Amino acid sequence: MKLEKHIRTVPHFPKEGIMFKDITTLLKHKDAFRFAIKEFTERYRDSGITKVVGAESRGFIFGAVLAHELNCGFVPARKKGKLPAKSISEEYELEYGTDSLHMHEDAIEKGDKVLVVDDLIATGGTVKAVCDMVKKLGGTVVECSFLIELTFLKGREKLGNIPAFSLITYDSEE
Ligand code: AMP
Repeated sequence: MKLEKHIRTVPHFPKEGIMFKDITTLLKHKDAFRFAIKEFTERYRDSGITKVVGAESRGFIFGAVLAHELNCGFVPARKKGKLPAKSISEEYELEYGTDSLHMHEDAIEKGDKVLVVDDLIATGGTVKAVCDMVKKLGGTVVECSFLIELTFLKGREKLGNIPAFSLITYDSEE
């Protein structure tokens, strides 16, 4: 199945110059959504993953379903002010300024084999922040997985030797 055809590019959202990749058109299509989940599940079925960490908010959609399919736990990496218990945080660069993601201190156990999931990797700042927190909490990131990768932004280079995988790639702004 050609998953690309289920992604809608919305020019200049949320601001001028951004070509926003809208995944809601894929999510609402039952066969496309199922196909994407199947591709991820088959890749990680025998990899011994113990936790899936999803980045707020679209990473929750694929991350939670994948955790269910892989029979392991799901952990949300959340924006500031959302998590109720003791947490750690990492800042990352935005185009203008910085933002941060947070995880509960007890979300990961030492020795956890973690899959980090988000809908899209652009510059890689978001996923790098999540990986750094997983490591701080004693887990090992096995791979980072995305529905979409904007390869021309070279986000995977930020991950060093942590492998990255994506189902759809764009090699230029379209
Ligand atoms: P980055 O930290 O630069 O890799 O940005 C990745 C995060 O920002 C992901 O959580 C995406 O959901 C969101 N994002 C960045 N660029 C886009 C885009 N062109 N379309 C949709 N979402 C984007």
